[in-house]
Amino acid sequence: MFCSTKPSKKMMTEILDPDGDVTITCGDTSFRVCSKALSLASPVFAVMLKPSSFREGMLTGDAESANSAVISLPEEYLDAFRMFANLAHHRLSDAGDQPSVVQLDNLALFIAKYDCTNMMKDRGNTWISRTLAEGDVSQEQLWLLLHLAYVLDLDTLVSNLSRTLVQSLAERIRDWEYARANMRTFPDGFLAQLDHIHHTMTVDMEETMIKPIIALSSSSCEGCRAMLSNYIRGLAAAGILRATNKYRRKSVPQILQSVATFGDASYSIHAAYCIEGQASAIPQNKGALLDSLRYHTERAQMCQGCLTGGENCRKHRPGGWKGAIAIMSLLALVVGVGAIC
Ligand SMILES: [Zn+2]
Ligand SMILES: [Zn+2]
Repeated sequence: MFCSTKPSKKMMTEILDPDGDVTITCGDTSFRVCSKALSLASPVFAVMLKPSSFREGMLTGDAESANSAVISLPEEYLDAFRMFANLAHHRLSDAGDQPSVVQLDNLALFIAKYDCTNMMKDRGNTWISRTLAEGDVSQEQLWLLLHLAYVLDLDTLVSNLSRTLVQSLAERIRDWEYARANMRTFPDGFLAQLDHIHHTMTVDMEETMIKPIIALSSSSCEGCRAMLSNYIRGLAAAGILRATNKYRRKSVPQILQSVATFGDASYSIHAAYCIEGQASAIPQNKGALLDSLRYHTERAQMCQGCLTGGENCRKHRPGGWKGAIAIMSLLALVVGVGAIC
């Protein structure tokens, strides 16, 4: 790939098009490229590469030929420009191996700045998916990959990554220092919208766990009262009784894990004998409870529209404030019932 060097400036030259009419320099590397290829892939380059647009200082005098323009890009875009320019010149195998998350982060900023989403979409999708498939991705890395998916307008990945991220945090994402310090090109209100989606999901989960308590608290059947008491003790022992400190510190996966530790003994076979018929309100085993909780985590669908203001999205259900009000009244009840037991 390194076809010639200019020893005097220790500049490495990568020739993407031998007949290229433009030289792009980036740090210690210069690229001989075709202005048409870059212009077709990016409207920003199209404007920059119009001869009439060359501003003073942008066009320098050391072009390799008298007719070749030289444009300098910020050094931090070196890898990103190489990926982009190779794809723009249909040099698919030279677009690079699997980039690191740091390189993908720079690529996201490059794509946002040079408006080349369409050119990078497929390759970006593959790179994000491969990084995820390799596993062991930190929350900070998830955040950066989410930004790239957002810039590339990859709806499914945006939905999956944002859901995984908000679920993994026990705190509000607005309170997560890393996200606040690294907003990249996310729009205003993005963190609030993620919190809103997380809130809706947890309210639904809480409602699921509290439903049996509401149903059985009015029962006069002794068996039902015993089941209710067992159920509440089970929730408390697993650290998932709403309004307790233990519960507040749990992320969504930790809540699901805690339900999995629930002893099936917390449930009763009373359901088959209950004369009042209320006993069926209690899930008959922890598997049933887990299934309905997972349903709510998976139902938290989101897209670019949801995440940039909610009202831009017609695909997914509208906000959960109604649920929040409902849960507050349920909470008042459960605290009362908890005190009785
Ligand atoms: Zn009963
Ligand atoms: Zn949506």
